[in-house]
Amino acid sequence: MRGPSFRTKAVHNHLQESRPFKSKSTPIYQTSVFSFDSLEEMEGYFEGKTPYLYTRNGHPNSDELAQSVATLEEAPDGVAASSGLGAILAGILSVAESGDHLVAASDLYGGTYHLIKEELKTFGIETTFVNFRNHTAVEKAIQPNTKLIYTESVTNPFLRVEDIDTVTEIAKKHGLSTMVDNTFATPYLLKPYTQGVDLVVHSATKYIGGHSDVSAGVVTGRTELIQKARSKVSNLGLNLSPFESWLACRGLKTLAVRMERQIDNAEELAGFLEEHSQVKRVYYPEYVSEQGRGAMVTVELEEGTNMSRFFSSLGWIKIVPSLAGVETTVSYPLGTSHRSLTDEEKAKLNINERLVRISVGIEESADIIRQIHAALSESAVEAN
Ligand SMILES: *Cc1c(COP(=O)(O)O)cnc(C)c1O
Repeated sequence: MRGPSFRTKAVHNHLQESRPFKSKSTPIYQTSVFSFDSLEEMEGYFEGKTPYLYTRNGHPNSDELAQSVATLEEAPDGVAASSGLGAILAGILSVAESGDHLVAASDLYGGTYHLIKEELKTFGIETTFVNFRNHTAVEKAIQPNTKLIYTESVTNPFLRVEDIDTVTEIAKKHGLSTMVDNTFATPYLLKPYTQGVDLVVHSATKYIGGHSDVSAGVVTGRTELIQKARSKVSNLGLNLSPFESWLACRGLKTLAVRMERQIDNAEELAGFLEEHSQVKRVYYPEYVSEQGRGAMVTVELEEGTNMSRFFSSLGWIKIVPSLAGVETTVSYPLGTSHRSLTDEEKAKLNINERLVRISVGIEESADIIRQIHAALSESAVEAN
């Protein structure tokens, strides 16, 4: 008999031992520490007989989240962190230390770019950023001290789909580890671990949580790397709280149904935008996986569009500098995620003042299209 499908696994994500009284929902273990009845029992923790000692080191709720995401990624293990960036830091430090070098994609999420470029440098880890469309350039950037190749499965805001098979092939050839941020795709669309990636990381703040009510991160992957990442989470104080873990687990149960609906809506919206005279270019991937093309749509509006009028004419669609909630929202990459780039970096990445990123929600698609159509009409008034 084959195992349960993705939809079923997403819902049934309890850790076996996390419900001592068989409550249907996992309790929130709102405690900073665990207690023992004897010195022998406490010693048992260090011998691996009981799982928990002190909440910073691990607790049932964050394990439930990490194990659930690992199950969906078809990876053997995972660890949760207080944010996506926390999970990325723990993951990278499980592979690289002072004196090591990384090769990373130049179009990474802004916060990750900053973490790697500025903060990791102070840890003595240097990085070369490369355009990952150019595989020769990726290979050329590899140095004798390179340890890790880092990229994203689907990028922000242009939704470039990474050629993961080629990246892992290059890494294997040079004996390097790979790490992929799978936040935009989610395991519903892509499972990079099954393609040979060593570490797969998520900002669970986005689709995993799905309701814009929690900041969290998870890194999943090879057992020995996750073991190291777990000690980084604990030693650096990057742990996720019991309540935040619980919220993210609750959100995760509906990942499959949310993605199904959001992807259908996004495909319809992208079709509408492609036909609209005020839209210069639609960035929506041709293909991500058999499950669909994703729930994010980025557009460059025509020159002459009154951008501030567009953003203030969106009615119930809010301007939100994040993504992946159940509500449709828009963000302005130039003003938020890519704000701190130099003019040269912005030009190189093609970030301009007419770029809008749309995170498509679960509403009725006709309502989403109608509202965006109305804002486009409003913003054209002065242009004509
Ligand atoms: C939001 C995001 C992050 C950072 O996650 P936080 O939870 O905000 O720390 C990393 N990568 C991607 C692709 C993101 O969208």
